[in-house]
Amino acid sequence: MNNVTLSIGGNLGNRMENIRRALDYIEERIGKIKQRSSVYESEPWGFEAEHRFLNAVVVAETALSPEVVLREAQEIENIMGRIRSGSGYSSRTMDIDILFFNDDIINTPTLTVPHPRLHERHFVLLPLAEIMPDRVHPVLRESVKDLLAIPLDVLSLSIP
Ligand code: AMP
Repeated sequence: MNNVTLSIGGNLGNRMENIRRALDYIEERIGKIKQRSSVYESEPWGFEAEHRFLNAVVVAETALSPEVVLREAQEIENIMGRIRSGSGYSSRTMDIDILFFNDDIINTPTLTVPHPRLHERHFVLLPLAEIMPDRVHPVLRESVKDLLAIPLDVLSLSIP
């Protein structure tokens, strides 16, 4: 069995309902969810948008390979009606990224794991630090809590 950490989030439609639906799809198509963070609200990253994002992180146990997890994640995004407006960052119903896959380091044309921008994004680091503060990034060799570099006692940990 593999241990995959996924980031899920979106800024369109009923955002909390979409998080719940994404969790259901992940259990159906990828594997059993072992851990999940609170839901965090944030400003759009890298572009201007009217609506704020809701983001969370989940850990699932999966028998699938990383490539198949990516394909299933993209299928969930498609089912949930993600609006793609060209390249770059855009509004979306649901975006699912692979943050970690076991402690594997993957660099293929379609997949980079750990996710290349994981350590730059508070909307990823905050939920990650909530559920796995001591997990060490296999490339950067720093713990999630050190990557976040702020005291954990300031986090909001409300349950969605
Ligand atoms: P985005 O539109 O930002 O969701 O990016 C999707 C593209 O990123 C897809 O074409 C994937 O092949 C690629 N990608 C590379 N690494 C990852 C990853 N760790 N998780 C999700 N997508 C990835």
